[in-house]
Amino acid sequence: MTAPRRHVQVAIVGAGPAGLVLANVLHRAGVSVEVRERAGRAEVEQQARAGLIEHRVVEYLREHGLADRLLAEGGRHEWCEFVCLGERIRIPYGALSGGAGHWVYPQQFLVRDLIASFEQSGGVVRFDCPVLEVDTSGPRPLVRCPDDVLEAEHVVGCDGPRSTVAQAFPADADGAVERRYPYDWLTVLAEVDRPVDGIRYALHEAGFAGMMPRTPRLARFYLQVPPEADLADWTESRIREQLSLRLQLQAGDPELGAVTEVGMLRLRGRVREHVRAGRLLLAGDAAHVLTPSGAKGLNLAVADVADLADSLLRCHRDGEGEGALTGAATRPPGPRRSSPTGCWTCCTCRRETRRSPPSACGCAGNGSPTCPLRAPRARSSPVPTAAPADSTPRRYPWPSPPRPWCCLGAGATGNTLIGRSPAGRSS
Ligand SMILES: Cc1cc2nc3c(=O)[nH]c(=O)nc-3n(C[C@H](O)[C@H](O)[C@H](O)COP(=O)(O)OP(=O)(O)OC[C@H]3O[C@@H](n4cnc5c(N)ncnc54)[C@H](O)[C@@H]3O)c2cc1C
Repeated sequence: MTAPRRHVQVAIVGAGPAGLVLANVLHRAGVSVEVRERAGRAEVEQQARAGLIEHRVVEYLREHGLADRLLAEGGRHEWCEFVCLGERIRIPYGALSGGAGHWVYPQQFLVRDLIASFEQSGGVVRFDCPVLEVDTSGPRPLVRCPDDVLEAEHVVGCDGPRSTVAQAFPADADGAVERRYPYDWLTVLAEVDRPVDGIRYALHEAGFAGMMPRTPRLARFYLQVPPEADLADWTESRIREQLSLRLQLQAGDPELGAVTEVGMLRLRGRVREHVRAGRLLLAGDAAHVLTPSGAKGLNLAVADVADLADSLLRCHRDGEGEGALTGAATRPPGPRRSSPTGCWTCCTCRRETRRSPPSACGCAGNGSPTCPLRAPRARSSPVPTAAPADSTPRRYPWPSPPRPWCCLGAGATGNTLIGRSPAGRSS
């Protein structure tokens, strides 16, 4: 039996922050949108990942009526601290940037809010509905799901690092630049007896450690571990001991309570060269995966779709047609700027803590002439890397000069999180 076929202007694959923000903005502007999500609703709404949201992202969400609960319940966050060999250096970046600090609001709360507001405006997210394949053999792409097929004017892959939409890109638009870091990070969510009110990066001889706020009673911690370290070797008591040692926790600092989730993050950075191939587009982690060192993943995901929504509205609502999407051909400038910064943070922490020569990790950080991010190897590409068709200011301002990455070819996945979590404990 032939699967039923439905026509839609924009099919969105994935109901993470990227897919849901895009769905809300397009749907409210009258563009017909379908969202297909592989996971069940409970899984999507409970996955604890990011927590620091940039002021520009909050402003964009507020403009679109998507930040009510975030503004009411989110916390402000305006400083970070480096702890290095007993010395503490605090950087009040909120004050230094004229009060533009971060907001602290767990990703899963934002995802719940975005689903609720999409549904309130009449939108439907189809959960438990994996996109099996995107067929580009006809004039319009076909999005094949287990029960039906969507024929779409445009398909946006907001489906994370192993994007099914990206797999439908032609080989000559499949390049990426990437880095596998020579260490991994253990990720921990734990209860705390008082709020963590700023970020702490600790550079210790035993390895890097980080502490970040999430909710008044939960915090996110990171521990640098050797590459491919086994999660099973990291017992709760070992995690506590190493966090206390490296973060140099003392009286007055938050005290750790129950550990609610532990995971192993295989650290990678990967940015695709092309985020558009004809009627297929990519956004968020499907287009680029960075380490959590810079707290950029969720923020760049929203930045991508803010620009993309603008182009898709001009195409579908304002009648400008495909020309409105010309500027979406190459990877957006945000990751180009953020990736070296995240790389620098990772490499700096490791270099200082391990006292190894910069070359030992293959990268000396963004400041060194040996860093491949500074000395890109260009790869010519048959796919046009078009500049924006016009000089209309974008709605989401990324004031970055383009900085090319080294091109290492396609193939790897993004950061891989392997985890264990006592049922129902993360929030
Ligand atoms: C431990 C950790 C901490 C982090 N901390 C931060 C932070 O502090 N700040 C920050 O900005 N970022 C942080 N990040 C990164 C951030 O969580 C991601 O960058 C963000 O979730 C990307 O959003 P997305 O919508 O692009 O992708 P995702 O959130 O990954 O959503 C993709 C969705 O697509 C669905 N999907 C996949 N394949 C299919 C398919 N074939 N069919 C249908 N659906 C599909 C998936 O089920 C998923 O729901 C962190 C990440 C981790 C792992």
